[in-house]
This record gives sequence, structure tokens and C-alpha cells, in this order.
Amino acid sequence: MTDSLDQFATAKLAALEAQNLRRKLIDTDRGPEGMARREGHDLLSFCCNDYLNLSQHPAVKRAANDATEKLGAGAGASRLVTGNHSLFGRLEARLARLKGTEDACVFGSGYLANLGIIPALVGAGDLILADALSHACLLAGGQLSRATQIIFRHNELAHAAEILANRRAEFRHCLILTDGVFSMDGDLAPVTELAALARRHDAWLMTDDAHGIGVVGGGRGSSFLEGEKADVPLQMGTLSKAVGGYGGYLCASRPVIELVRSRARTLVYSTGLPAGVVAAADKAVEIIETEPERCALPLAKARRFTRGLNLPDAQSPIVPLILGPADVALRASEFLVAQGFLVTAIRPPTVPDGTARLRFTFCADHHDTDIDRLVATVRQHVLPMRVV
Ligand SMILES: *Cc1c(COP(=O)(O)O)cnc(C)c1O
Repeated sequence: MTDSLDQFATAKLAALEAQNLRRKLIDTDRGPEGMARREGHDLLSFCCNDYLNLSQHPAVKRAANDATEKLGAGAGASRLVTGNHSLFGRLEARLARLKGTEDACVFGSGYLANLGIIPALVGAGDLILADALSHACLLAGGQLSRATQIIFRHNELAHAAEILANRRAEFRHCLILTDGVFSMDGDLAPVTELAALARRHDAWLMTDDAHGIGVVGGGRGSSFLEGEKADVPLQMGTLSKAVGGYGGYLCASRPVIELVRSRARTLVYSTGLPAGVVAAADKAVEIIETEPERCALPLAKARRFTRGLNLPDAQSPIVPLILGPADVALRASEFLVAQGFLVTAIRPPTVPDGTARLRFTFCADHHDTDIDRLVATVRQHVLPMRVV
């Protein structure tokens, strides 16, 4: 009966195509300083999350190669069986130090981390309160947990407080979920205020700092926006963005990390990361710890761009330019590619209907002259395309 399966897939694809929502994979070979080779063209990328260009850093690549030579290409089993090679502990200690926590646990990816952590902490009879623009994998982890999940309007503390006042007493535990730096909008969560709200209602705050580590709070992430560490007991993040490699993590107290190591199903039932991947992340986090001036560059570059276009000051290295319909965002992206700039269009369902956008990201190695050329091109040709 594969006929009906293929018919189903073909019809579904045609419907996506008609809505401009069909996705395609395009080979993109990235090189140093934001260069990316795509379909025979050398482009300058303004859409990588490799904010510190650490994926290309010679010391990071060397660490990966050395560890692979020494320990092999794969971990061979889950961490709880025999996959826990000796590099994990060093990386976890380094992450805990950077984030100001007692301990840390490394997962296969950020997505896997959220799918594992949340169900290990809450379940039926508990409440999850999540910001409306939380990353898809936070919400997926919440659904997997079977806790009651209520969404509060993006960054509206008053709405979150109202839900807690009305509903908190019905539930045993309560977990508040938010991105620290929002992945598609580049704005920041009010972390300190959310922490205070959580305290008042005996709730546990978990931040997804995928886009915070390495680039805000002096490189220590969104819990350190005001210098001192905010009262965030669960700091989750990924090793795949500013850290430049692959993997996910949770930084928390010793008992929480021990619980997660025993109960997070995506840790227990999934193979450990290869030694080369862990060694690369360890070297990259060491660079983040020791080179705060590098960590300040992506935001400074993003601000050069927003100031050049008279947009509100960038709050992170992510700058969205909302254009409206999906086809307009696609056309704008194609235009920029023709000019040598790689900037991808972000469309529904990743972002709400009618808010398709170009999502610009800025990296430490971008040259100011290239940013200025981008500003001029966007001002002249892209801003006039806006339908919002
Ligand atoms: C990218 C991202 C993730 C997923 O991390 P991966 O390591 O790529 O799986 C999780 N949360 C947010 C906010 C992200 O932007």
C-alpha cells in the first residue's frame, strides 16, 4: 500500500508549494569570515548562528581533530552505558563555571535537551507557563511532559502574573519557559523580572539561551545582562550557535543535574556526542571565557546595521526585517543573493502568518565595510518591498 503513502506526500507537497511554504535543502559550504559557497556563487553570509566564527577557529578545529584521532569518530553508546568519554566532564565543568552554577549536563543537541529536561521536571498535575515566542522545542518538550501548558503574550509580564494569580494554586509544580534571546525576533526576555515573578509564585524559571551564550552578558548569556547573575535555576542552551559546534546543555544545581542525568529520556536513550564534537565545544567555551572582547563584536556589528537603517538599536546579533507575505520575503532574499549577500527568508510556520521576514545575523568576523554595503543595498531595494 505504498501508493497511498506517495499520493499523500505528493498532495501535501503541492499544497505547501501553493502557499510558498515548501522548503528545500541547498548545499552551502561555509568558510572563514562568513563566506559561504552556494550553487556556484561565493556569498557573504548574514544568516549563520556561528556568531563568533568559532566553527572555523583553528584551535577549535585542531581540538576536534586531535580528540577524534585519540578516541574515535563516535561515542559508541549512550552516556550512561559506555559513551561517557573523559571529555564530557571537562566541558560540563567549564559550562557550569561560565554560567555560575554547581553543575551542567551535556545533551546530543539543544532540541534533545529541551525534550529531555522538561518531562524530567514536570508532568500531569503540573503547570507550564511559556512565552508565546518560545522556540518550538521548548513547547514540544512541554507537550511531551503532559503538564498543562498555558501561553503568555510575548514578554508581557503582567499577563504571566495574571495567569499565575488565577491558576497557580490548581497545580503542584510550575515551570516558566522562555527564550533568553528570542531566536526569530532578536529581542531579550525580561529575565530578572521573570525570576522575581517565579519566586513569588513558587515557580521554576527555565531560560533557553541558545542565542545568548557567547554574545550577551559578556558572553555568559541572558542571565548576566545586568552583570550579576539573575536568579535563574535552569539555564539551558546549545553548543551549535555561538559555540560553533553541536550539542545542548543544562546548567543548574547539583541535585537538578543529577536528576536530569537519571531521568531525561533523551540523555538515557540516545548516544553520547562524539569526542571530537565535545572537544571542539570545550575549546570554544574556553575562548568565550577568555576573550570577552570577541563576545562583544556580534552585537556591535548588529548595531552598526540597525543604526545605518534608522531601525531601533539591535538588542542581540539577530535583526529581523519583517516584510509581510512569504513571497515578498522570498523575493527579497533572492535579490540579496544576486548582490552577493546570503540572507534567508523566514516564513510561517516558523513565524506567525503575515510576518515573513529576512533574519539578519551578525558575526564577529564581519567587516564594517561589508555591513555598510549591506545597509545601502537594503535601504535602496529591500525596505521599499515592505508590505507591513
Ligand atoms: C537552535 C535553537 C534550539 C535548538 O538547538 P540545536 O542544538 O540546534 O538543536 C533550541 N532553542 C532555541 C531558542 C534555538 O534557537
